[in-house]
Parts: sequence; structure tokens; C-alpha cells
Amino acid sequence: MEKRELLYEGKAKRLFATDDENLVISEFKDDLTAFNGLKKSSETGKGALNNKISTELFKLLENSGIKTHFVKMLDDNHMLHTKVKVILIEVIVRNIATGSLSKNLGIPDGTILPFTLVEFDYKNDALGDPKLNDQHALILGLVDYQDELDKLRRMARQVNDILKPYFAEKGLNLVDFKLEFGKDKDGNIILIDEISPDNCRFWDIKSGEKMDKDRFRQGLGGLKVAYEQVLNRILGK
Ligand code: 5GP
Repeated sequence: MEKRELLYEGKAKRLFATDDENLVISEFKDDLTAFNGLKKSSETGKGALNNKISTELFKLLENSGIKTHFVKMLDDNHMLHTKVKVILIEVIVRNIATGSLSKNLGIPDGTILPFTLVEFDYKNDALGDPKLNDQHALILGLVDYQDELDKLRRMARQVNDILKPYFAEKGLNLVDFKLEFGKDKDGNIILIDEISPDNCRFWDIKSGEKMDKDRFRQGLGGLKVAYEQVLNRILGK
């Protein structure tokens, strides 16, 4: 597979064309950003860890019947995947209250939610990723039909139903996470982006220790060690 021109550069990944018009390559960067790009840093090896973690989780989800963009991991920092039209909705799934949910609604940090909450944010840096309801999403034309929003929620819950017990077995609470979706060339909605400690919160079940990007957001240090721990637990090491 030939890596061709740069198509897009995001905060954590670069996207490249390939010699196949239906396939693209993501390069996972070591850059770290938080608070809509206001806080910036870099951690050598972070990109490779996220690539490896995402690879394992995409394989797990594919084997459990979730359609994803994943094709294969090419090397430490590169993943080959299907080209899609990105749906500009961030689908947030929450099992435990923390982060913006606690801040915005005053739900005490660490509260176990009575049921899994699925929210939509508008993927728009200039606007600071504001919350969306279904009518907002339709008025903005982010999807064409209500059915598609229902499908995003259904798929997000399915992902949670697979990942939550999977991580619990590895001693990690899956607190919350952000998913992105796109439409492939046949118009099918599939899971895209990455699934890693950059966009999931993991809390160690025994110690409560944070094992995700909150270590950077909150200036706790030890980010790489935490990400390595997540990968090692996934690999059963
Ligand atoms: P919160 O809304 O509490 O900040 O984030 C909820 C969950 O979604 C967290 O796991 C967080 O990592 C993820 N998340 C929300 N928005 C973004 C985003 O713009 N980028 C990334 N990488 N993750 C996000």
C-alpha cells in the first residue's frame, strides 16, 4: 500500500491518500492537546500506543459485529482504513459522571449513572464542540434522517455493551468515551477515528487511578505509563 499526499491534519492524526481511492492511512501523532487546543504538549511514543490500542479494540468490535473503518495496522504509527464521509457528530457515551457532565449539570464526580447516557456534540472546533439535540443535528444537516441519529445511538450503546465488560475484566472502569462515525462508499454508517485513552476515560477499579488523557488535562503526569498499562492489560500482559 503506497502512502500518498496529505489529505488532512488533525490534532492527533494525519490522514494520507493511498493508491486505492477507497482506502486511506492515518498516522498517529505524539501531540497532545486539551481544552479545544489551548493546552498543548507532546509525548514520544503516545501515537504508537494509541494506534496499537485502537487496533486491538477495532478487531474486538469487528469480531463482535460492529462495522468499523479498520483494515489493518501498517506499522507503529500507521493504520490503514476505509475512506468515509465523516459525520460531524461526536457521540459521547457515559457510564459514570465526570468531566463536562459533572461541570455542566452539577452531578457529583464519580456518580454511577442509573443508565448509560448517550450525548451528541457538534464536531466543530471553532464553536468549541457544543452539545446538540436531534433537531439541531437535522437542522444543521449533519445527517439526513432521524433514523441515522437513532442508528448512531444504537451503535454507540452496542460498543459500550462490548467494551464495558471487556475492560471490567481487565480491572478498568470504562467511565466514558467519544465515538465518531462516517458513511462508506455504499452509504453505510461505520465506526471511525480511534478508540484510545485520548478519547476514553479509564479508571483503575481497585485504586481509582486515572489511566487516560485526564493525566494530561489535569497535569497529573505519568501519561505514557498509564497508556502502556492500558495496552498491556488489553494484551493480557
Ligand atoms: P467530556 O465531555 O467530559 O469532556 O468528555 C467525555 C468523554 O469524551 C471523555 O472520555 C473525553 O475523552 C471524550 N471527548 C469528548 N470530546 C472530545 C474531543 O473533542 N476530543 C477527544 N479526544 N475526546 C473527547
